[in-house]
Amino acid sequence: MIMHMAKRRIAKAPARDPSTPRFNRKLAVPCEGGFRLRVYVTKGRGKRMASIRVKCGCCSQSVVIYHGHGSLEVNGVEGSLEEWRKIFGPLLAGREP
Ligand SMILES: [Zn+2]
Repeated sequence: MIMHMAKRRIAKAPARDPSTPRFNRKLAVPCEGGFRLRVYVTKGRGKRMASIRVKCGCCSQSVVIYHGHGSLEVNGVEGSLEEWRKIFGPLLAGREP
């Protein structure tokens, strides 16, 4: 007797065009005012929070940002989104916090 395995359709994520990556990962890529940051994103899974590691464009210095559940942890400093928004919101808009 021949057993036929049920074929399951697995939706494949569309392949990202390697010529247009979402974030830079190369060292010493010049941009206006310095080097482009290198950014590595990991998804959250189970108890592990999603994170973003932002590395300097010219050396090994980095900042790790864990995010999710309404809070943000930046290099080990945890705070609510609203607290971080008070600091980074104005800075990113070019104003003093
Ligand atoms: Zn550096």
